[in-house]
Amino acid sequence: MTNLEGLVIAERSTGETGKTVTLLTRKLGCIDVYVRGGQKSNKSLSSTQLFCYADYSLEEKCDARGVLRFYYNSSEPKRLFYNIRLDAKKLALACYFAEIMLFAVPFGQDSENVMRLTLNTLHYLDNGERDEALLKCIFELRLLCETGFLPNLLCCSKCCKVEDDAMHLNLATGDLTCSDCADGEEGLYDFVMDKSLLYIVRYISLVEYERLFNIRVSQKYLERLDSFTEGFVQYHYGKKFKRLGFYKML
Ligand SMILES: [Zn+2]
Repeated sequence: MTNLEGLVIAERSTGETGKTVTLLTRKLGCIDVYVRGGQKSNKSLSSTQLFCYADYSLEEKCDARGVLRFYYNSSEPKRLFYNIRLDAKKLALACYFAEIMLFAVPFGQDSENVMRLTLNTLHYLDNGERDEALLKCIFELRLLCETGFLPNLLCCSKCCKVEDDAMHLNLATGDLTCSDCADGEEGLYDFVMDKSLLYIVRYISLVEYERLFNIRVSQKYLERLDSFTEGFVQYHYGKKFKRLGFYKML
């Protein structure tokens, strides 16, 4: 028997009465868990719903091909994020976050910080104390940083200048170049940032988690930040996420 804290980020019917949920966990990344009778059982219902965070007790078994499988045994819900499930737009945004994680957080990956980021983001989405558009940007950018794509944000990669009216951040290399070193040239993957936008990007990428959600961003900069974080996600994860399109339609 294995005991794990997990967050349900996907669910689907399996067979006539069972269902399979995907849990984001701290130690094992994303894992699939089969819930016997999960389509009907009241016992397992609340903690195998989308965006339930719970303590799970799981059985581990190897199938005929030697692949490790997890089976639901029991659970103790810790947080249900009710308001997210009651609001179509919040739900669509949370489903987009889940879709990125299914893609970017594989089985077996240590996901302590990803779990922390996700639970904090859902907390603020649920209680409505932060702008949804800002939560989207914070989640996208910080998730990239936590999954190996932290840009080199400290200074210009060529002359070490820390600030400039226009700094070019190359999405492909993650390197910054100041306007003198860029010599007026805008590279194919360059995103040009003024001082304020660079400050915001540095803050979200580097600040400790206790202060991450304290940042406030004006509408003007929120739009520019959004265009940067979305482009950065698309570049590194190499795909368009279907649920982002759905969120934007609402
Ligand atoms: Zn420079």
